[in-house]
Amino acid sequence: MLHVADATGSAIARTLANRVAQQQNIQVLTHRVAIDLATRDGPQGKPRISGAYVFNTKTQRVESMSARHVILATGGASKAYRFTSNPDGSTGDGIAMAWRAGCRVSNMEFNQFHPTCLYHPELRSFLITEAVRGEGGRLLLRNGEPFVHRFDERGDLAPRDIVARAIDHEMKRLGHDCVYLDVSHLSSDLVEERFPNILRACSSVGIDIRNEPIPVVPAAHYTCGGVLVDLHGRTDVDGLYAIGETACTGLHGANRLASNSLLECLVFAESAADEISRRLQDRGTGVLDMPDWDESQVSDSDEDVVLAHNWSELRRAMWNYVGIVRTTKRLQRAFRRVQLLNEEAHEYYSNFRVNPDLIELRNLLHVAGMMVRSALWRQESRGLHFTWDYPKQSADARPRVLAPKNAVVDAQSFPA
Ligand SMILES: Cc1cc2nc3c(=O)[nH]c(=O)nc-3n(C[C@H](O)[C@H](O)[C@H](O)COP(=O)(O)OP(=O)(O)OC[C@H]3O[C@@H](n4cnc5c(N)ncnc54)[C@H](O)[C@@H]3O)c2cc1C
Repeated sequence: MLHVADATGSAIARTLANRVAQQQNIQVLTHRVAIDLATRDGPQGKPRISGAYVFNTKTQRVESMSARHVILATGGASKAYRFTSNPDGSTGDGIAMAWRAGCRVSNMEFNQFHPTCLYHPELRSFLITEAVRGEGGRLLLRNGEPFVHRFDERGDLAPRDIVARAIDHEMKRLGHDCVYLDVSHLSSDLVEERFPNILRACSSVGIDIRNEPIPVVPAAHYTCGGVLVDLHGRTDVDGLYAIGETACTGLHGANRLASNSLLECLVFAESAADEISRRLQDRGTGVLDMPDWDESQVSDSDEDVVLAHNWSELRRAMWNYVGIVRTTKRLQRAFRRVQLLNEEAHEYYSNFRVNPDLIELRNLLHVAGMMVRSALWRQESRGLHFTWDYPKQSADARPRVLAPKNAVVDAQSFPA
């Protein structure tokens, strides 16, 4: 078992990074943002990976990197939403890149919302773990009234999708910006021992959680869908793998159980690495040529304000129309907005030199489009997808698999 107080993920990431730094045969390239994958036609017209185009943020140039095998491990796409617990890089880059390269993507309507993210202008995206409720923390309205028991008899201990929906409902009903998570009735020793990071982070913005409630909002937390892969992380493109939150392995289904994702990362990373090691013995798979990045038709942009505006518009539209509780009308509204923003981003991408903001916005728009299309398709409520127009769960559980026009797939090899 791997467990370190309230910072298990951080401890795993630090340990892995240290191990990587000790390996002589691993070259770590930082300050790079992958833009797109390069593929060539392989046997039976199935695409084969030849490398990736990567933007170097120091030189501001695009580099072409040839590779026999590429693993996408770029995380999820929760930055599509206004409130998220995720870091800035969670813009669905790997999912969008794989899609453009011809891979199928599945289950994009299932986005998990964590019920309790700190609501504070100076400290955004800070998650208050559900263990706080597990230890006796209570969710309260502004007037101090508990409310979750009205939605589920388990009250504050109900599963996270039910609690997130209850908070969303009350915030919308009362027009409040947040609700409150209170641990002030617990002993200070317990709070200090069990939640040292939360105590420190909240103190840094003037909230002493031992004495006062924490303002919280639900926030987009985990992308259950992603690039459809098999048990070795293989995608529809030969030599291209996806692992972690970028991938849809089938493990999470329509709802993710807390703490499963780090395990999934480790298990599928090992399986993909084993598969690549096996294939490296095979002399047939050499590095394929890839064309250089072509910048002959583009110039420097002089209106980056458009990017900032479109980022914010997308994230608000997704939050309001494709959020915790959905309706067909809201989804259709989101569909039109995303389409329009996509057209603008495409024009921008075609005319101007790339930069990280543009790369990420373009990816997020492609992924947001997949989320909305998948949500519109699902005429039932299941797991993380709840719509007032179809509040019941259908007897027929089917995954929503989106296939790009250029997909060449062998349907037998995938779990979905
Ligand atoms: C606050 C928080 C708490 C969590 N707690 C738990 C928990 O207790 N247990 C659990 O199992 N799971 C937890 N999760 C979920 C889990 O941490 C994530 O699902 C997991 O870290 C995903 O790992 P990953 O390697 O797929 O992606 P990430 O850890 O997101 O890493 C992706 C990396 O790719 C980089 N990247 C992205 N795009 C590009 C690009 N275009 N070019 C180059 N690099 C790029 C990013 O900068 C980042 O370094 C938590 C998540 C959050 C946000």
